[in-house]
Amino acid sequence: MSNTTAEPPTDDRPVVFRNAIVVTVDDQRRILPKGDVLVIGQNIAAIGENLAVPDGTFEIDAEGGIVMPGMIDTHRHMWQTAMRGYGADWTLTQYFVWYYLEHGKSFRPEDVYAGNRLSALDAIDAGVTTTVDWSHGLRTIEHGEAALEALRASVGRFVLAYGNIFAGPWEWSADPEVLAFLKKNNTGSDDLRFQLAFDVTGDPAFPERAAFEAARELGLPVTTHAGVWGATNDDGIRLMHENGFMTPETVYVHAATLSNDSYQRIAATGGSVSLSTESELSCGQGYPPSWILRQHGIPVSLSVDTSVWFSSDLFSAMRSTLGADRGWEHMRAHEKGDTVTHSHLRAEHVVDWATRGGAESLGMQNLVGSLEVGKRADIVLIKNDASPTMLPILNPSGHIALQAGRGDVHTVMVDGTIAKFDGRLLGDELASVKRQVESTVEYLQGELGEPSWQRGMNPDAPAAEMLDNPYTYTEYKDSSTHQAESDRADAPV
Ligand SMILES: [Zn+2]
Repeated sequence: MSNTTAEPPTDDRPVVFRNAIVVTVDDQRRILPKGDVLVIGQNIAAIGENLAVPDGTFEIDAEGGIVMPGMIDTHRHMWQTAMRGYGADWTLTQYFVWYYLEHGKSFRPEDVYAGNRLSALDAIDAGVTTTVDWSHGLRTIEHGEAALEALRASVGRFVLAYGNIFAGPWEWSADPEVLAFLKKNNTGSDDLRFQLAFDVTGDPAFPERAAFEAARELGLPVTTHAGVWGATNDDGIRLMHENGFMTPETVYVHAATLSNDSYQRIAATGGSVSLSTESELSCGQGYPPSWILRQHGIPVSLSVDTSVWFSSDLFSAMRSTLGADRGWEHMRAHEKGDTVTHSHLRAEHVVDWATRGGAESLGMQNLVGSLEVGKRADIVLIKNDASPTMLPILNPSGHIALQAGRGDVHTVMVDGTIAKFDGRLLGDELASVKRQVESTVEYLQGELGEPSWQRGMNPDAPAAEMLDNPYTYTEYKDSSTHQAESDRADAPV
């Protein structure tokens, strides 16, 4: 029998994860303190203790680690990964100006391709096995082909959410080339699905009707940025509802600045919300609404949004969601002079949202999202024997949500095939993707010119207002200087 020091198999030999804490996220939310997960072909064949396995099974020593379902990101603008970190200090306004108005049009098909390839590797590295590519920069069909080609060339399960911010959704969704592209490629495959991605402005004429009708005609779900302060609001939700376009498969991204009435319409029609908590906290779409979604019983999934600003892993999403939800609850209690003695949102809830919640939101719950016999083997092993942070593991959900990080992702399996092993991505794609991304950055830098490039990355910071302080004692500065000098004088030579 082989072990973790061996190279992972390149054939379709069965694989067993041995002696892990197994977080199943199944119907009973079972956690096995010391369990095995056997994978045969594409599927999970058995889960239990001391499993008997077929001869020749590749054994992964998962002791000291956690085996969990592959994570699912329901909203990631993968094409923007080529600009990773550029907008760290942006607001939503600056993002809109940069991408929607000024520079988004500069992206060529190969730039979309480069961003998507990098983002796909990034996802697998962090244990994200299914990603919705919220691809709203597809201004020509060549851009669409490039996005698709990148996903097809990448390891992972994807949903291409087709969109184009440079035209009205009623325009591009009527483009015969776009329709033909979607019809041809939406073959019902389990590793590549489609959505239509567009926003509803609330214009009483409801011009987005045509795009909803196109989606219905194509049999595709709609994903939409809803409840984004200053951009989309209750009117959009109401128009969708009144016109019969709010359906269970609709995904509302952010859903932050909405009234109770809108949340009730979402709850009543069975749709789900994709929370991008890091994004909502930083951009200004509105306060991350996890607490109100729970009150309305609206299903939740998690997402990264864009790594032009934010972390591209769901550990960060789980962590920030717990923090935002609890912070809100504490703040509201303190305003009333109260104390929160018991947290409502638990670590197991955000682990659920990062896995099963994503699968349910995408209608893929029969395939992935939990570790259950018969489901596809999209599996993550979190294990890092060299890390002091990986022991002790007392509370598995808490460890996933608040202790582990992408560097602790030991093994990632998609559809029964190992894509990351012993902490490193398999294959040598990163080198070629790096060259593609470098060429995109160089091209964009040239297109924008240095001043515009720098201005875009470093928006003016408003002047900080210093508060008056009634205390004027500043002698500590002098005394600390004197102390340091006397220390030196006393020091032995
Ligand atoms: Zn978005």
